[in-house]
Amino acid sequence: MLAVVPPPVTVRVPSKINLHLSVGDARDDGYHDLTTIFQALSLTDEVTVAATEEPGLEVHGEGAKSVPTSEDNLAWRAVQALAEHVGRSGDENKVHIVLRKGIPVAGGLAGGSADAAATLVGLSALWRLDISRDELAGIAATLGSDVPFALYGGTALGTGRGEQLVPVLSRHVFHWVLAFDQRGLSTPRVYGELDRLRADGDPPRVGSHDPVVEALASGDPRQLALLLGNDLQAAAVSLRPGLRRTLRAGVNAGALAGTVSGSGPTCAFLCEDAESALEVAAELAGAGVCRTVRVAHGPVPGARVVGGEDAP
Ligand code: ATP
Repeated sequence: MLAVVPPPVTVRVPSKINLHLSVGDARDDGYHDLTTIFQALSLTDEVTVAATEEPGLEVHGEGAKSVPTSEDNLAWRAVQALAEHVGRSGDENKVHIVLRKGIPVAGGLAGGSADAAATLVGLSALWRLDISRDELAGIAATLGSDVPFALYGGTALGTGRGEQLVPVLSRHVFHWVLAFDQRGLSTPRVYGELDRLRADGDPPRVGSHDPVVEALASGDPRQLALLLGNDLQAAAVSLRPGLRRTLRAGVNAGALAGTVSGSGPTCAFLCEDAESALEVAAELAGAGVCRTVRVAHGPVPGARVVGGEDAP
């Protein structure tokens, strides 16, 4: 009897920005406790997983050349982690993965984490696993602290290393302009720079996240704009001083406010509405302060199968 080969599964997965990122002091193990508010944005990657005799990984799109195709790729780590969790081994795990990247690599938008989350969701459908999103989130947390959020999407408060999530009510669609820098920034390097800045002085820290939660519930972008804050911004700007100019240019172009997303170097600009975002994007693109510009909105859902009968 011929074995039935299941059709490939494609998953779309959002990027994230941090509307608020409070970073605690370095712990003895080198990690930092975080309090962050994530929002999932419509700038996405697409991940296709297919059963195959010849496993492999292809990467296309934004920054494809700098993405490892070896087992260092977070998508491979997701395959391994899920297979171990459900006790699959050998030939059963042979998959071909195609990553179509819209999210810039090492941009502070958690693109690698997004691909890991998408791979978990794609394989759950491909392998017809009876597994809940919460169970997947447990596996996701072992892969990286931003991976669980990419599964759920929306807007959420993250604590611990960012992996302990509580949804946050967000009443409005917020419109963003994203400015991509020429090159990525290494997340560990940015944390190291923050530790150095704190050892040398006392850079200002963001306050409580409570007002941000209130602004999200009110749905008023002007209120939210006053509260965007990121403890990693000073470190990212210290390593990449040109970001100061990018942040200024976005506000000069008409954005309500700008912030470095996560460890940077992507800058995210909050705009009044969709029309204003298009205007800000056009002006920023002409200002020569960044490699490229995208508009996006949020919140959007987490990793989802697209098309086909497997879509939940
Ligand atoms: P974070 O803020 O979560 O650290 P980031 O958005 O700044 O992430 P990523 O795009 O996730 O950065 O990439 C960080 C590094 O991870 C890259 O330099 C790359 O070597 C590695 N990496 C592993 N898997 C992937 C993947 N699927 N896509 C992109 N980068 C990947």
